[in-house]
Amino acid sequence: MATAASDVLKPDYGSGRRHLIFTDEHEDLRESMKRWVLDELAPHAEEWEETVWPDSVLHRMAELGYVGLCFPEEYGGQGGDYFYSLVRAECLSYAGSGGLGMGLAVHTDMVLPPIELLGTEEQKRRYLVPGIKGEKIACLGITEPGAGSDVAGIRTTARRDGDEYVINGSKTFITNGARADFILLVTKTDPDAGHDGVTLFLVDLKGDDGEPVPGFTVARTLEKLGMHASDTAELAFEDVRVPAANILGEEGKGFYHISWELQGERLVAAAGSVAGAERLFEKTLEYAKGREAFGRPIGRFQAIRHKFAEMATKIEAAKQLTYATAWRFNNGEYPVREITATKLFTSRVACEVADECIQIHGGYGYMKEYGIERAFRDVRLNRIGAGTDEIMLEVIGRSYGL
Ligand SMILES: Cc1cc2nc3c(=O)[nH]c(=O)nc-3n(C[C@H](O)[C@H](O)[C@H](O)COP(=O)(O)OP(=O)(O)OC[C@H]3O[C@@H](n4cnc5c(N)ncnc54)[C@H](O)[C@@H]3O)c2cc1C
Repeated sequence: MATAASDVLKPDYGSGRRHLIFTDEHEDLRESMKRWVLDELAPHAEEWEETVWPDSVLHRMAELGYVGLCFPEEYGGQGGDYFYSLVRAECLSYAGSGGLGMGLAVHTDMVLPPIELLGTEEQKRRYLVPGIKGEKIACLGITEPGAGSDVAGIRTTARRDGDEYVINGSKTFITNGARADFILLVTKTDPDAGHDGVTLFLVDLKGDDGEPVPGFTVARTLEKLGMHASDTAELAFEDVRVPAANILGEEGKGFYHISWELQGERLVAAAGSVAGAERLFEKTLEYAKGREAFGRPIGRFQAIRHKFAEMATKIEAAKQLTYATAWRFNNGEYPVREITATKLFTSRVACEVADECIQIHGGYGYMKEYGIERAFRDVRLNRIGAGTDEIMLEVIGRSYGL
């Protein structure tokens, strides 16, 4: 059937809502999860800045099947592909609480995937299954007071003693650290072996009575610039005994195992950065259409209009990069350079967008009641957590043999 030239040439600003990596099933999830986030989480965003998000959020999320999206059915999951993780991260942006999204992602996208990939059957039954049910909350312990970017420079040791290991050391900046039931802990089993002396353990932090296991203490909870809805703690391990069966993956291969974990973490962080930027863009666009100065909506000034054009272009580029890289990751490639570039670019875009959105809101952007200042504080972490900008640049630069 012939189409009129006027129809063909008309720009369609509403097109392309669904990216080619997503199917109807992904979009169904997006619809239902977004509704849940808007109805049950977003109304509490302000309150949880003071109290941190309650454990009941994870329980509910598990009940709705949103924790197990990408895990095999035999462990209680839905057996979906990696793209479901992106949809989940994107939907959580509607809560308007970076701290909530981060705390949940530590559980769903940082700790549970390595257990699925590397865990023994027994470990999957003890940690993955209750994790998917939301009965056990996880945290991830890489960073220490003396080593963050330099993972191989950590000092927490695990010394073999018969069928057990004895763990000593401390971890800091640990998200969910004050509440977690267990930790995926990065240790040194051979302090002289550099990268090859690193070993991962699954360590219970609470006994059956809910009290901390002997030798483990939450040394302190930490105050921070943003992400207030998330708890961040310093953890101390003093002669904590763990069965040798709790090694995750291979002894001495922990550096490579955790490097794999970081790839998924960075991609999900990228999706969160892009979605967060989109939410800020939408909110600010609405504001710019309503707020008047000098007799017209501020969005009608070219200087402001161009800010939106710049932001939209960067967000679109960041989104396409994220989806293209995720496609490769989902299809079995291990595109570390591209994931690293994606993480670097998207978190920078998110920070730039947050800054511009404050600017466009003027004084109101600086006030708490608009939620923009919170996003501005929350998003700053994205250029530090999961690997700093400088480390991302190092990884990319070195990948060219430099
Ligand atoms: C709110 C929050 C939550 C977090 N949650 C967790 C968590 O759950 N689990 C966890 O393990 N960690 C967590 N982290 C830690 C986070 O991953 C680290 O802060 C990050 O990796 C940087 O490490 P660092 O803070 O020790 O900085 P450092 O490594 O000391 O770096 C300091 C500065 O030096 C730069 N630098 C370091 N090495 C190089 C180099 N080779 N070349 C150029 N520049 C370099 C860095 O880019 C940075 O600018 C969290 C951090 C925060 C703030």
